[in-house]
Amino acid sequence: MQNNIGWNFDNSYLNLSKMMTAQLSPVPVKDPKIILYNEKLAKELGLNFSSLSKDQQALIFSGNVLPVGTVPWAEAYAGHQFGHFVMLGDGRAIVLGEHVAPDKKRFDIQLKGSGKTPYSRGGDGRAALGPMLREYIISEAIHHLTIPTTRSLAVVATGQNVMRETILPGAILTRVAASHIRVGTFEFVAAQKDVGALQELIMYCIDRHYPELKGEKIPALQLFRAVMHRHADLIVNYMRIGFIHGVLNTDNVAISGESIDYGPCAFMDGYDPKTKFSSIDHQGRYAYGNQAKIAQWNMARFAETLIPLVDVDLNKSIEILEKEIANFADIYGAKSLEMMRGKLGIQAGDTEEDHFFIKELLDWMHANKADYTNTFRDLMNENMHHSIYQNEDFQSWYAKFIKKNPDKNIMKKYNPVFIPRNHKVEDALQHAHDNNLEPLHKLLQVLEKPYEENSNQSEYQMPGPKSDVPYQTFCGT
Ligand code: AMP
Ligand code: MG
Repeated sequence: MQNNIGWNFDNSYLNLSKMMTAQLSPVPVKDPKIILYNEKLAKELGLNFSSLSKDQQALIFSGNVLPVGTVPWAEAYAGHQFGHFVMLGDGRAIVLGEHVAPDKKRFDIQLKGSGKTPYSRGGDGRAALGPMLREYIISEAIHHLTIPTTRSLAVVATGQNVMRETILPGAILTRVAASHIRVGTFEFVAAQKDVGALQELIMYCIDRHYPELKGEKIPALQLFRAVMHRHADLIVNYMRIGFIHGVLNTDNVAISGESIDYGPCAFMDGYDPKTKFSSIDHQGRYAYGNQAKIAQWNMARFAETLIPLVDVDLNKSIEILEKEIANFADIYGAKSLEMMRGKLGIQAGDTEEDHFFIKELLDWMHANKADYTNTFRDLMNENMHHSIYQNEDFQSWYAKFIKKNPDKNIMKKYNPVFIPRNHKVEDALQHAHDNNLEPLHKLLQVLEKPYEENSNQSEYQMPGPKSDVPYQTFCGT
């Protein structure tokens, strides 16, 4: 039945040390049914499932039937979760294989929620439908917002329940990623004190994600720098669109620089750097305004794993890496300033003055609980009719803004019109739970073109109704 799909597996990760993986198949499920299938993504990957019936597709995306030409595996990794080191690993996910697309790009095809593995610890290896649909929505939204991210190819309902605080319908997500190598993967290898395996992993990552670094004299150091740059970019992008990842643990920091693992993430409405949604993030460690600091902290954990391979003199190694990490603030600061100038469509002026000018606006937004996305959109459209703008503080800032001759075309590239508004996401999930997929499909369609004005979709621009109960998100593990 699988002849024409176009799978092109080449499982290079299995060439690494045996301790990196556990080879096993997904645990079959009772009654798989396709809920979402991303045909456009399949096409981009050179895959075509259209010769299969829906039932046959469900068999593949549930792991009940394995693609021909691959041997699936779960990956070992560790990580710092909320600051504490833990041994982890794919406890509920299995990589079906590395698919090489027609453009030669290599992707992990992973089933998330596919059953227990040797890394499951106490967990059941499964996932609930709501969180898997949520990951599908947000990852696809982030992709269309032109930010590097893992993607979602399909969601199937398993026909089995999972026990959480309540009984929930189970599901499996097919996740597509540049790879699933994380800072936590390096932490795992470092914890084994196997310098050979570490060297191998570094060279593997360069080959797979940073080929431009091939032949560099100190690969560990060059890799570190490159990863740090990509993560500075990623956080700048999160800040640009008002996104709070929610669990930036080191096991959720991909070496590829892609955004990965969408659990309790959400988008900010009213501007407030302290915004957090995750029910388990009591201290606000992963709050909106903390994300850059946390990325630097995560990079420091990455650097620690590389100490044996930067210099033979370990003290010198530490010194070199500490210097590199200290650069994060400047690297991030420069990228962040450039991004904010882009959001305002203004030319680079004096750095201090620009900082002050941007801060003035953000402080005003904070004090007035102005919607982050809609304020930039109003600025872009010179549509300042809303009553919130009718005050002196704002008007004096606005007069300075207009004098700077903002470039609308630049602003359009930086400022989304549509983001996955929390109430729209919840509404789509609720209806999907009640077997009505209409709102989910409509939402996904809106999120495909986040930078294009569309007057028929204005309900997707509104922040949710004000409530006394703050919006909370759950990990859904
Ligand atoms: P996450 O919070 O999704 O980044 O996951 C952290 C760790 O918990 C990873 O090792 C997961 O594989 C594991 N995990 C999460 N949910 C489950 C589950 N239901 N069963 C087994 N392991 C899980
Ligand atoms: Mg994770």
